Amino acid sequence: MNETLYLVIPCYNEEEVLTETSSRLLEKMNSMIENKYISEKSKILFVNDGSKDKTWDIIENLYEENKIFSGVNLSRNKGHQNALLAGLMTAKEHADMVISLDADLQDDIDVIDEFVKEYYTGSDVVYGVRSSRKTDTFFKRTTALGYYKVMNKLGVDVVYNHADYRLMSKRALEGLSEFKEVNLFLRGIVPLIGYKYSIVEYERHERFAGESKYPLKKMLAFAWDGITSFSIKPIRIISTLGFSIFILSLVALVYSLSVKFFGRTTTGWTSLTISIWMIGGIQLLSLGVIGEYIGKIYNETKARPRYIIKDKLIKNKE
Ligand code: UDP
Ligand code: MG
Repeated sequence: MNETLYLVIPCYNEEEVLTETSSRLLEKMNSMIENKYISEKSKILFVNDGSKDKTWDIIENLYEENKIFSGVNLSRNKGHQNALLAGLMTAKEHADMVISLDADLQDDIDVIDEFVKEYYTGSDVVYGVRSSRKTDTFFKRTTALGYYKVMNKLGVDVVYNHADYRLMSKRALEGLSEFKEVNLFLRGIVPLIGYKYSIVEYERHERFAGESKYPLKKMLAFAWDGITSFSIKPIRIISTLGFSIFILSLVALVYSLSVKFFGRTTTGWTSLTISIWMIGGIQLLSLGVIGEYIGKIYNETKARPRYIIKDKLIKNKE
């Protein structure tokens, strides 16, 4: 007991929520510190993901007011997953356990105690899982459900209804740091790290201010990344498709030869056109998907840094 907890919160244009979020989190942390549940070296670490508004100024002010607040400022907007990773890797140096959560506090912070309890009883990873999706729109609910199903069919191990609200021990974070991939999909990587895990259920609230930083376009890109970064099944499907078409073309060959030998040589314009279009289409589709993977290989071989930290505000009492 009494180990050091860091909360890591990626923030992109969150000036509307930060004041409220920080005071709620401060209250939570203080009560846990007073109860000697976590150590007084525990911190709330905000990661500013290249916000265009006053987010970083607010973080700097918070740091001036109370050294429990700390901050990491990225050199530009790198997206939620990279910002989260920057925070986790920074926190890993100081903390025994780290919980990641969103700035809008849609995830119920009252279950933090339970996360920590699971950690003390020996779990290295604790997944926060939404017990219901009442606050989501019908569209988001059904697409999300379908997505988890597709992911599982493709052999990707993801925890159902778990976003990025989770606790990770120092050991698990060290494992995470071994994953060097650029196309980050943390939800897919964390189960691969291993160690003992547990699940804590919670209700997801509505965003209390500001709007979602995940428009449909970003969400789709994220979902696609999740599939292509973890599964080569799409390539297999193409191979199977190609093989079946090859068999079909053999049948067609025998058929057209026999038609020719039996003297009925009227050329079928319809079938010809259809085949040209179909084969052309399938080839293009296949090239597209293969290109998708080559694109990933290209990105990975470049091994660009996934984030660059500009400033760091962390004060450790010794
Ligand atoms: N976020 C970020 N960088 C981005 C987009 C989002 O750091 O480019 C952060 C955002 O500030 C929030 C979290 O990621 O803390 C989740 O975003 P949001 O709540 O908008 O997503 P939603 O809950 O609507 O899926
Ligand atoms: Mg949100």
